[in-house]
Amino acid sequence: MASATNPWDPQRVRRALLRWYDAHARPLPWRATRDPYAIWVSEIMCQQTRVDTAIPYYERFLARFPSVADLAAASEDEVLGVWSGLGYYRRARLLHRGAREVVARYGGQVPRDAQARLALPGVGRYTAGAIGSIAFGAREPVVDGNVARVLARLRRIETPLGRAVTERALWADAAALVDGPRPGALNQALMELGALVCTPSAPACPRCPVERWCAGRPIAETLPVPRPKTRARRLELVAVVATRARPLRVWLERRDGELFGGLWSVPMREAGGADLGTEARHALRAAGIRARLPQTPRGELTHLLSHRRLHLRVFRATGAAATPHADLALVEVERLAEDRGVSTLTRKILDVALR
Ligand code: SF4
Repeated sequence: MASATNPWDPQRVRRALLRWYDAHARPLPWRATRDPYAIWVSEIMCQQTRVDTAIPYYERFLARFPSVADLAAASEDEVLGVWSGLGYYRRARLLHRGAREVVARYGGQVPRDAQARLALPGVGRYTAGAIGSIAFGAREPVVDGNVARVLARLRRIETPLGRAVTERALWADAAALVDGPRPGALNQALMELGALVCTPSAPACPRCPVERWCAGRPIAETLPVPRPKTRARRLELVAVVATRARPLRVWLERRDGELFGGLWSVPMREAGGADLGTEARHALRAAGIRARLPQTPRGELTHLLSHRRLHLRVFRATGAAATPHADLALVEVERLAEDRGVSTLTRKILDVALR
């Protein structure tokens, strides 16, 4: 670590952060509550999602499932329906499983004990610490993307994110800072500073409350050193929008497996060696649907997931018939939003096929 203007002093840095937070914190809906369940929902939603995007989903989710017990009692379809459009659906499924476990093991009360919280599905060290510090006032640290950026700069940590040595240093610094009064506010102050001042590019150092302790300021824009990139794997898929007319309805199947598992989607499969028309017919047959299918796709699209780049050719099949069952449904296109948990990708596929 290089020398800073002032030597590292967790107590003084903490005081400066709390003063700044009291004056500048945004009034986000989950900041008005100490309910551990609401904080849990907000933290899961804000992972990999911008705060502005998450707010309406958070409000809808809590209106529909106001307590752990309400969420636990809901079906997975209902949960995914309310989550629909927010992406990263695994988060929703794990949150749902976590709620069921809280009801089954802890009588519907999110556990105060940190180890018990950490053992819940989908709750890692970050989420456990956020719930513990904000809802229960426990001195538990958090390190998310924003906090990692602030601390890597403040402490001039020049090893790449993801390396054990880096993670150890970040968590140790976060633990030193949170070990004092108002741990929930302190953790949120670090996150807020990362979101509003110590931003990825062009950090606003002159208005930063901890500038005088910042060892990394001269090289701030090069920190944190990113983790080595893994290339997104390209996946070729065919999707078939099989419709019936008047009113316009579409056949959806509930997907199984890693890619959008649990969500409702049009029949879709990875394109193998056969020509596209044959692959599309296989996708329909696997779903149990009979329909008139053209030889060529109606359009194509790409869709980026965290580790995959999907390239889809989209077919439109008409006059489709099948026997509905628990994992196959004929749904009115107009009512899709209120009816099912469908992914953003499915909406994009429908746009291509039905435009
Ligand atoms: S001084 Fe600049 S680089 Fe350092 S923590 Fe503040 S905003 Fe970030």
